[in-house]
Amino acid sequence: MSIPRILPRAEHPISRGYIDPDALRVLYRLHRAGYKAYLVGGSVRDLMTGRTPKDFDIGTDARPQEVRRLFRNSRVIGRRFRLAHILFEGGKVVEVSTFRKIPDAMQGEEGREGDDDLLIRSDNTFGSPEEDALRRDFTINGLFYDIATYAVLDFVGGVEDLERRVVRTIGDPLIRFREDPVRMLRACEFAARLSFAMSEDVRAAITELNREVTKSAAPRVTEELLDPLRRGWGRDTYRLWSEAGLLDALLPEIGGAGAARASEESAQGLLFALLREADAKHAAGTRLEDATLLSAVFLPVVFDAVRRRGPLSAAGPGHVLLVLEDTVNPLAIRMALPNHLTESVKHVLETLGRLTSTRPTDPGVRRLAGRPYLRAAIALLSLYARASGRYREVAAAWDEAVERGFGLHAAAEPFPGALFPPPETLMLPAPDGRAPSRRRHRGGRRRRPQVSAAPA
Ligand code: ATP
Ligand code: MG
Repeated sequence: MSIPRILPRAEHPISRGYIDPDALRVLYRLHRAGYKAYLVGGSVRDLMTGRTPKDFDIGTDARPQEVRRLFRNSRVIGRRFRLAHILFEGGKVVEVSTFRKIPDAMQGEEGREGDDDLLIRSDNTFGSPEEDALRRDFTINGLFYDIATYAVLDFVGGVEDLERRVVRTIGDPLIRFREDPVRMLRACEFAARLSFAMSEDVRAAITELNREVTKSAAPRVTEELLDPLRRGWGRDTYRLWSEAGLLDALLPEIGGAGAARASEESAQGLLFALLREADAKHAAGTRLEDATLLSAVFLPVVFDAVRRRGPLSAAGPGHVLLVLEDTVNPLAIRMALPNHLTESVKHVLETLGRLTSTRPTDPGVRRLAGRPYLRAAIALLSLYARASGRYREVAAAWDEAVERGFGLHAAAEPFPGALFPPPETLMLPAPDGRAPSRRRHRGGRRRRPQVSAAPA
């Protein structure tokens, strides 16, 4: 057991005033009951660098059942590793995990010999605070804030790496990335979001091991692919993934090598330009739907495929649908996207084409206005127009139509506290003045009840 570097309160910027009050209450109650109670992981990193943490995770030496007994408003969750969730008003959850270590089988020479067997599959076991720090991925994510002393405890050199602005694995990156290849994606993501460099050994290890990322569970990878898009640092993250060969390993159609040689440059260029615009929207306070964000990622590939199939006009509208099935389905299967999201993405991409051939003022637009994907498709068109400089006027017209509330009326959203779905009587009448019916909507493809557009 080694002694951590201890930064007393006067030597770090973390003030209790920045800690979520509910998380603070949990820390204090654990402490008063005689347990160790630390703020752990990303929240310490973010507070140390003056950022607002997404969540405040807590580490303790209390066992999950002991935590459960201490908090009436808690439940123990998890099969692989059990931890406690303390529930607060408004759906807020504070996660409390017992310190744990990498299982014994992973440690020592034995575990290091068979490279392929490093992948962590077995359960974790309880451990000391130091062991808990050592099992974490990067030094900057391995810091603790101790509520007993208000000090920051550093077992892993995280403070120094925060000062030097580097993403470094705890331990040998060749081992840590083989244990869990998702960490390679995370290394780039943290570098992009914090504007940190990756340490030399981390970069080299990713170059060596980038193909291993395909061994990770698809839903975990997909979460990592979506997260930076949702949080406004998509472009820089995808750029680092691309440079590191990770994007190519995961999504070759998008990553480059698998894409048609001639258009490789431009497809990637379009991707980064789209993500730059999505990040700009985020910075301006607009939250884009997952369907819009994923459609933006797929759009350059779809364009490539459409181009390779020859002129659109000759093939007719069914052509686009076929291309979408052929391009989006394999990607969606590999990414294990939920069906509803795959369907939304295809609808958004299909609708995008229609938007450019229909003006919001066209009478035929009523058909489009009932589409649940319309808003997401307009958002994509807006990204595309800004990214490419094309269709600006059309995009502006649709954006303006959305702002006016055209076709997308507020009553489609349930009133606060209303039953779900809202009763029909609360819906606006259909454009022809009739009450909305549960019959199949003219423009819709589903039998779900839909509200038709209000007249513009
Ligand atoms: P944010 O939530 O802002 O994206 P974070 O650092 O909190 O960043 P999480 O994914 O919430 O990231 O993980 C919480 C903590 O758990 C991390 O800070 C890290 O210490 C640890 N951790 C997460 N994923 C891994 C992993 N794959 N391997 C080892 N440790 C991990
Ligand atoms: Mg977190």
